[in-house]
Amino acid sequence: MGSRRRNFLVAGNWKMNGSLAGVQALAAANADGAMARLNLVQLVLFPPFLYLPEAQRCLGDSGMAWGAQNVSEHESGAYTGEVSAQMLREFGCACVLVGHSERRALFGESDAVVAHKFLAASRAGMTPVLCVGESLQEREQGATEAVVARQLRAVLDLAGASAFTDAVVAYEPVWAIGTGATATPEQAQDVHAFIRRCLAEADAEIAAGVHILYGGSMKRANARELLAMPDVDGGLLGGASLNVDEFMAVAITAQRLAQGVT
Ligand code: PEP
Repeated sequence: MGSRRRNFLVAGNWKMNGSLAGVQALAAANADGAMARLNLVQLVLFPPFLYLPEAQRCLGDSGMAWGAQNVSEHESGAYTGEVSAQMLREFGCACVLVGHSERRALFGESDAVVAHKFLAASRAGMTPVLCVGESLQEREQGATEAVVARQLRAVLDLAGASAFTDAVVAYEPVWAIGTGATATPEQAQDVHAFIRRCLAEADAEIAAGVHILYGGSMKRANARELLAMPDVDGGLLGGASLNVDEFMAVAITAQRLAQGVT
């Protein structure tokens, strides 16, 4: 058994990809109980909203949780096209992504909106997975820490440190998402440790328990070296999560690391 303080979490963000059959194929990968055997790894699927009922139907007993890629910051009302946190709970969602860089960049979600979405998810009893990360330009300008600190601060100011007792942070450098250009393990570790320090300034105990995932072109070929870093507690996979074998290979890598298998 390994000596990690936090078990791993491996999540798949399908974005606007996948299909009903894809959800069923993922469930079929569990036919021999493969997911349940990964007892040191929490698996989570973030499919498009429409596939959540199918995820609930086919993944219910698998040990794999499911969640949404987005949530409204409002509880209910005249918000055409939006989906509330309570509705997601009705379909068994355990978690919800908030602040994914595509939502921030393509749909104009500000730090303040992301913070309200985080709070809406928390209040409904779901785990918000707060995505943070810098653009290439920001990294080149040496602004990585300032950007990540600002994104965290918006949530800490609104929801308080205690809201991170049941929350996950995903560090997703924008320049690594969908590009094949993964952060080096050292780059990831530096930012993950920085995120933990920022949270520790608010509450050291909560910071020590928070899962911080890495996201950005993670796949079977690079997962091991990233997951071996002390503050990398799992991965948020986009492209690689669409391939069941690739996704499960990353999960098995995490399980082996957690068991201390080198
Ligand atoms: C993501 O969208 O969260 C992501 C990490 O994508 P990819 O793995 O494709 O870079």
